[in-house]
Amino acid sequence: MKTYNDVLKLLKQFGTYIHVGKRLYDMELAAIELDRLAKSGLIDRKTYATAKIILNHEHEEEQRHPLKLQQKKHIRRNKVMTDQKLIGVDLGGTTTKFAITTADGEIQQRWSIDTNVLDEGAHIVPDIIDSINEHISLYQMKPEDFEGIGMGSPGSVDVKAGTVTGAYNLNWKTTQNVKADIEAGTHLALTIDNDANVAALGERWRGAGENEPDVVFVTLGTGVGGGVIADGRLLHGVAGSAGEIGHVCVDPHGYLCTCGNHGCLETVASATGVVRVAREMAEEYSGNSSIKKTLDDGDEISSKIVFDAAKNGDPLAIKVVDRVSYFLGLALANVGNTMNPRYVVIGGGVSAAGEFLRSQVEKYFKQFAFTNVRETTEVRLATLGNGAGVLGAARLALN
Ligand SMILES: [Zn+2]
Repeated sequence: MKTYNDVLKLLKQFGTYIHVGKRLYDMELAAIELDRLAKSGLIDRKTYATAKIILNHEHEEEQRHPLKLQQKKHIRRNKVMTDQKLIGVDLGGTTTKFAITTADGEIQQRWSIDTNVLDEGAHIVPDIIDSINEHISLYQMKPEDFEGIGMGSPGSVDVKAGTVTGAYNLNWKTTQNVKADIEAGTHLALTIDNDANVAALGERWRGAGENEPDVVFVTLGTGVGGGVIADGRLLHGVAGSAGEIGHVCVDPHGYLCTCGNHGCLETVASATGVVRVAREMAEEYSGNSSIKKTLDDGDEISSKIVFDAAKNGDPLAIKVVDRVSYFLGLALANVGNTMNPRYVVIGGGVSAAGEFLRSQVEKYFKQFAFTNVRETTEVRLATLGNGAGVLGAARLALN
């Protein structure tokens, strides 16, 4: 326990959620609650003493520099004072997911439709507009009941213009004016961002990120994507490419990447990347191995087959997972040294390998991270699965 946030987390464990919004008042409430817990013997004396020291220190700081902390409070706001609802849209190549949430991210309704990519994706935006309008009237609500719509999209998103370019899995061959069209069709404001950034926001808000202001998210799927939240803000960079963790170079002499460079993280840590590493290592491997046998028989393997084999003790699969974890740990340690986030969150289909993968990535992360980063940045698994997209999209509608 080191920070005021840790004290609040401790209280949360006992079912007390303190956030009135006035920091001094919040701290006083927290102190009363701590006294109560200590008196009833629910927390030990040492924990109580540490928490008290932190609270007293924060209290003094708040009185001394109210302005500085006022700014902090603004960034850290957990609760938003609005009754308006949010609509999150997670646009994908096969399905489009929707959710209506409260301003705090409680999902009230969710549904999905098939993404119709026929006719160069010309039906996608009209289908989304119809579906939103239908559901708003189905629930007997009005556009005024909503703060706005947030949306995650594949492809390259121009956040300011609200356009999407190069979303080939949607069959969009030209730049699409998604924001203008959906706003005109629903009479609601739309904020759009790329799908990895949106999933990062979702995990940070309601998932493994615990709404901390500094969270890095990496998603391991058919590709490797990422999103970086620093001081509570999603980073975009000058041209929208901040957080492209999939193209962090982990091996300058490595495989050719779809981006034209060699040895990007994506070439070894995406679902196809893991299979590629397994194929190459199988060629040099002479021992007994189920995945080597499968490959020698001319059959296909998947990243899941590799992880399952490793969990079952297959010696080649263990080496493959070790190598993939090495590359992931290396890339994430470099990102960690740049951002020093509270959490590095690993999500996406490949992360279904779970704690088995996480612990090995963490081993290499710790090996390559700067001392202070090693001690303060934690490698975690995502908790929202593919629900991160709609939730993050809804969060976007608050901005
Ligand atoms: Zn690349």
